[in-house]
This record gives sequence, structure tokens and C-alpha cells, in this order.
Amino acid sequence: MTYRIPFNKPFVIGRELDYMAEAVAGGQISGDGRFSKQCQKLLEDQFSANQVLLTTSCTAALEMAALLCGLEAGDEVILPSYTFVSTANAFALRGARLVFADIRPDTLNLDETLLEQAVTGRTRAIVPVHYAGVACDMDAINAIAKKHGLYVIEDAAQGVDATYKGAYLGTLGDFGTYSFHETKNFICGEGGALITNRDGFAERAEIIREKGTNRSQFFRGQVDKYTWVSIGSSYIPADILAAFLYAQLENMEKITARRKRIYETYEAALRPLADRGLLTLPTIPADCGTNYHMFYVILADLATRTALIKHLKGKGILTVFHYVPLHTSPVGRDMGYRDGMLPVTENLSERLLRLPFYYGLEEDDVLSVASEISAFFGAG
Ligand SMILES: *Cc1c(COP(=O)(O)O)cnc(C)c1O
Repeated sequence: MTYRIPFNKPFVIGRELDYMAEAVAGGQISGDGRFSKQCQKLLEDQFSANQVLLTTSCTAALEMAALLCGLEAGDEVILPSYTFVSTANAFALRGARLVFADIRPDTLNLDETLLEQAVTGRTRAIVPVHYAGVACDMDAINAIAKKHGLYVIEDAAQGVDATYKGAYLGTLGDFGTYSFHETKNFICGEGGALITNRDGFAERAEIIREKGTNRSQFFRGQVDKYTWVSIGSSYIPADILAAFLYAQLENMEKITARRKRIYETYEAALRPLADRGLLTLPTIPADCGTNYHMFYVILADLATRTALIKHLKGKGILTVFHYVPLHTSPVGRDMGYRDGMLPVTENLSERLLRLPFYYGLEEDDVLSVASEISAFFGAG
């Protein structure tokens, strides 16, 4: 089915196709070519990041972070259940035990007041997910991590160009991960990045990313042959994709400004419904600078959400919900989790609805979605 207003639409904003052609003409379309280096430098400069390495996806960057933490079977990792599967898979692949913690009802981020009680002698890491590009309480999370000697891996897949107390998300923990999947703010189809913020990890990160070899050092003339020096995998994206991404990153300000307008238009148009208690709008705490990754509404209950999705679908508008909480998924149940263990996650995951949101979404379309939602509530 095609929709009058789809949920997401990938976009080209500037020189994406020219740069891809340049990469081909330049003779290197595999990884770590000119455009990969330019993307990494731009991100390092723009976000004051220590080291940025492009990866094939945010999933890959999370896997690299799990390898860099040196996790062993039985080590525990604290993470939200209300997240994308990659946040969990990366650590489960290392044999870690996943300790799901509940979220805050206002931001849907990890509830920092529940973390300390989840820490045991086996805990090695906390993985805050910056949901919708709104930061977790990183001061509180970093303080708990410091006290117990834990790694912090920020899943900032949705948080590229967003801030916490003025610092860019992804630069606040030991490691940060970004996504450039076509559903995110800055895109190249499939892509991501790993940020290493602590001294002493840059070289190991490079090796893990290059199939466990010291090939990067070889290219820099630091060793005279390259060889297998650790376990690793193929996490390097093709330079043709970096070329596409570079054109997007050059336009970061323009993209975020456009998304801000879309977000604010939704917010203003839906405010009257929120004032009447028919739905709840997203909350952005004072310390958080959002990147306007998504616009969602929280409805009264599952039945209302199901009916609203159907109503909007009938008007050619696609809205979506996520996530099936990981702890109530088949894999989560195998791990021993049960319904009722994370009440805020279970409640909100049934009530949240994401509205169409993409760079090319026109103001008229935003207003049309909002007025259809109003009509649904008999307030049109
Ligand atoms: C999109 C997303 C990912 C995965 O990103 P990919 O680049 O598709 O691997 C991981 N975590 C969160 C929270 C996401 O939203």
C-alpha cells in the first residue's frame, strides 16, 4: 500500500551523487578512502570528539564497543528494554547477561534512579539509549559508573547532533555509537560510527574494525607488514557510502533546522489536544538540546492507539509504533523475564505512536496529520 503521507522518506540534500561519482573516479570505493576520512574529521571537529570511526552500522559500532570492553561470559550489562534489538544483541553476542532496567515516563530513557540497585559484583557496563535524540541523565549515569568502575556505552543512534549540557551525545560515555540508517537524521542507507572518548582505546578500536589486523598502522608506515593481532570483524563501510554521508553531514545545520520546524509545527498543532488531556506530547528536559529525531504522542491506552492508527491509515497517513519491550520478546522470556517486571516500559510501549517525520515532509502535511488526529478525537 502506498500512503499519501508515508512514515519515512530517504532524501538527498546536496552533493551526495556527485561525491559518489568522485569516489568512483578517484579509484577507491572500499573503506577508509578520502570521504570516510572527511566524514570522521567533520564529526570529530563538529562534536569535539576524541576519535570517530565510521562503521557499517550502529549495530556494528555497538558490537565494537562490546569487544572493546573485553566482556566475558557471565558479565552483566545494564540497558533499557525499551530499545532496538541491536542495543542488546551486541552484548549478548559476547555472552553477557542482560539486565533490563525500567525507563522514565517523561523521556522514555533509562530511569537513572533505578540503576544503582541493578548493579552487582558482575556488572561491567551501562548502556544508556538516548531515545528520540533526547539525552539520558548522563551526570547521574556517569557518577554511578565511576563509583562502581563500569563502562558507559551511549547508544546515540538517534542522537547525532543532540546535546546534554552543551556536550554532544556520543562524547559523554567511554564509547558512543551513531546510526546513519535511512530512518535517522543524517543518512547513507546503512551506516554508523563509533566514538572512543577514553585515551588508550583508539588503536584497539582501529584493529577490531579492520578484521583484527594492524592494517591501519601498516598504511601509515608504522609497521612493515600487517598481521592478525586480535579478534575483530569487518566493520568498515565502503567509501561510496561515506561520500553520500559527507554531503549530508555538510548540511547538518540545515537538516536539523528543518526538522526543528517540523517538530514545532506538530507541537503547536497538537497542543490543544494535550491541554484537553487527550494525549501527551514529548518532554525535553532543560539540560537537553534535541536533534528533533522524531515526534511521538502518548495515547490513553492500546485501544485508542490501535483505533487512531486505523483512522490515519484510512486517510493515507502511515504512523508506526515501537518497541516490543525486549524483556517480553521471545528472547527476553528465554532469559527469564516476565510481564510485569518493567511496568513503565510495558505501559508506555502500548501507548506510544510515532508520526510521519522526515526531511522532505511539508508543513501542509504536518498540519494535515495533526488535523486528522484532531478529527479522530472529535475536535477537528
Ligand atoms: C536505529 C537504531 C540502532 C541501529 O542502527 P543501525 O545503524 O541500523 O544498526 C540501534 N539503536 C537504536 C536506539 C536505534 O534507534
